[in-house]
Amino acid sequence: MTIADIAAKVTHKRELNILVYDIERMKGTAGVEFWSLSDFKHRRIHADDVIDWPRTICVAWRFLGDKRTEFASEWDDGPEDMHRRIWEAFDKADVTVGHNSKAFDEKHLNTGWRDLGMTPPSPSKPIDTLSAARARFGDESKTLDALCQRIGLAGKTDRYNVEVARAACDGDRAAQRKIRAYNIGDIDATEALYVTLLPWIKAHPHVAPNTGADNCPRCNSPKVRRNGTWTVHVWTYVALTCDDCGGHWKTTMQSRGPGVKTL
Ligand SMILES: [Zn+2]
Repeated sequence: MTIADIAAKVTHKRELNILVYDIERMKGTAGVEFWSLSDFKHRRIHADDVIDWPRTICVAWRFLGDKRTEFASEWDDGPEDMHRRIWEAFDKADVTVGHNSKAFDEKHLNTGWRDLGMTPPSPSKPIDTLSAARARFGDESKTLDALCQRIGLAGKTDRYNVEVARAACDGDRAAQRKIRAYNIGDIDATEALYVTLLPWIKAHPHVAPNTGADNCPRCNSPKVRRNGTWTVHVWTYVALTCDDCGGHWKTTMQSRGPGVKTL
């Protein structure tokens, strides 16, 4: 699937602002370089020994349906403006999409914002493609790269490399271009994965709650039909299916049978 194929799948306008984003990080230093204080088996790094904590060095993002991908970095924008720009995107977003974003990217951004004395952006619903993949699929590797390759999504251009990241931070222009391309490539890959996994994602908010209450909650397509029943605990609901994204759901607006408890 190409990027154009993906664009064709997001033709129905969403009311919700869906932000696809990804951050890149640089290791910290404490005599040695580290990602985590428990990086080394026989010696835990003490917080007092840390000279520099690991940090976010760049971030790329795009709202679903937009063509242009935004990019901010500590070398182009400075750490404060970089954090402020992604904060503004988060503040506007209703849904945030990323790969491992819930446990990783979002928390690191929160740390960055807090350290700069900023308050939290307005709330958004995180949709993590890694969590979605873990919940529904048996793939032996669920990295963004492995999933995209396995599904056949045209995706990532390069792999993260800490040497390239360090060179970029030190002002190497070629390294900065490389990590920028890599970061933006991850947005294309994450968006493609999100759109592909969409019908499998549970608990997705309705993307057009005002105009599209009867439409597909995930993609706002009007091509919706009844499709058998869906029983949860003792309640049997009418099941609905979207002929565009292929997702299924139930609502409390459609009839529900009596609660039947058989002994
Ligand atoms: Zn749909």
